[in-house]
Amino acid sequence: MTNLSDQPWFQEPGLKRLMTLLNGGGAETRVVGGAVRNSLLGMPVGDIDLATTLLPAEVTGRAAAKQIKVVPTGIEHGTVTLVVDGKGYEVTTLRRDVATDGRHAEVAFGASWQEDADRRDLTINALYVGLDGEVIDLVGGLSDMETQTVRFIGDAEQRIAEDYLRVLRFFRFFAYYGRGRPDAAGLKACARARVQLKTLSAERVWSEMKKLLGAPDPGRALLWMRQSGVLTEVLPETEKWGIDAIPGLIAAEQALGWTPDPLLRLSAITPKDPARLVALAERLKLSNAEAIALDRFARAPKPQETVTDVAFDRDLYRYGREGLIAVLKLELASARSQAEADSKAMTRSGRLSALLRRAEAFERPVLPIKGSDVLAAGIPSGPKVGEILGKLEEGWVASNFTLDRERLLARISELAPK
Ligand code: ATP
Ligand code: MG
Repeated sequence: MTNLSDQPWFQEPGLKRLMTLLNGGGAETRVVGGAVRNSLLGMPVGDIDLATTLLPAEVTGRAAAKQIKVVPTGIEHGTVTLVVDGKGYEVTTLRRDVATDGRHAEVAFGASWQEDADRRDLTINALYVGLDGEVIDLVGGLSDMETQTVRFIGDAEQRIAEDYLRVLRFFRFFAYYGRGRPDAAGLKACARARVQLKTLSAERVWSEMKKLLGAPDPGRALLWMRQSGVLTEVLPETEKWGIDAIPGLIAAEQALGWTPDPLLRLSAITPKDPARLVALAERLKLSNAEAIALDRFARAPKPQETVTDVAFDRDLYRYGREGLIAVLKLELASARSQAEADSKAMTRSGRLSALLRRAEAFERPVLPIKGSDVLAAGIPSGPKVGEILGKLEEGWVASNFTLDRERLLARISELAPK
């Protein structure tokens, strides 16, 4: 028997309170999913999801009686979120999917624990922990945990046809928890279902891909996604480009202490082409901030090793620090992975490291004059003002930001139309 009652998250007063509230009086409530899985693996636990025999209205009733805040997050699917000590717990009524079309499910409540386990996607995601901390395994999840096998519950092909997002979930969970080769039946079913991925909403696809790309090492998962044709369906941009840059990037991240960044990993496997990356961002509905970061990366030039510090500062000013840092990291990762066999790459990697440090420390200087200064110098308001300001800025950048306010003001009359 495996017991998780010693886990810090299981001891938290908030969860204890909920477990007491939602058990007893003929009701049973258990923790399920990621919290159980990650504790068994000794990995950090994020959200805590609960499964319950109580109907959503009963959960709401019990919570309200104790002044616990209830948010009806997905009540038609049986999910309400209870907020205790500022932390949200998703509580989902035992359910069975009665109709599915690959994207949405119609559900029935009042199912058994076995039926609730059976409708989940992967065996490692269907482990429960009851009030006493005992792990309950109804689908063979524990032995799959031991062998680090990521496996669908039941017939892979059928389970994928119920919700095509499971193709991406299969690879995501393989990236985090799998070992060796992916489960053969699962892999084959994913390959066969790949053309259906375009029927999913962009938000679901990107949210899943972002988690996959954020894995400590998504390399093997990406390799199998590519092998099975799934990667090309989701990210056709990677088709010609390939994923060869990933191992070098992961090695550099680990050696240099860079925080894993899903967008940098994405940049490593797509062409550095503004038009294609804009199209990708639109297609997958990336957030504004994500789209901007990709665009800055696409537009930033690859620095030459021979670039002088001052010329590099000018690039940092023109293209922004963020985009150049991304470019430098990818270039440095690639140089480092060649450095063992190639002494030129070693020199290159040293120079790129220095540029990266410079970029990280760069503070963008502020042009010491404004449009109002141009107006005050007697230039009538209109497009000419912007034009003059632009020329002044150019000169100032070219001077490595050394032209001061007095000299810039003096230049206005030189640039003014006679
Ligand atoms: P994490 O929160 O760490 O990403 P998780 O396993 O908790 O992992 P959630 O997305 O929070 O994942 O879902 C909670 C549980 O709901 C899963 O463990 C799984 O049992 C079930 N589940 C989620 N999405 C699906 C799906 N598309 N098909 C079947 N079951 C799913
Ligand atoms: Mg979760």
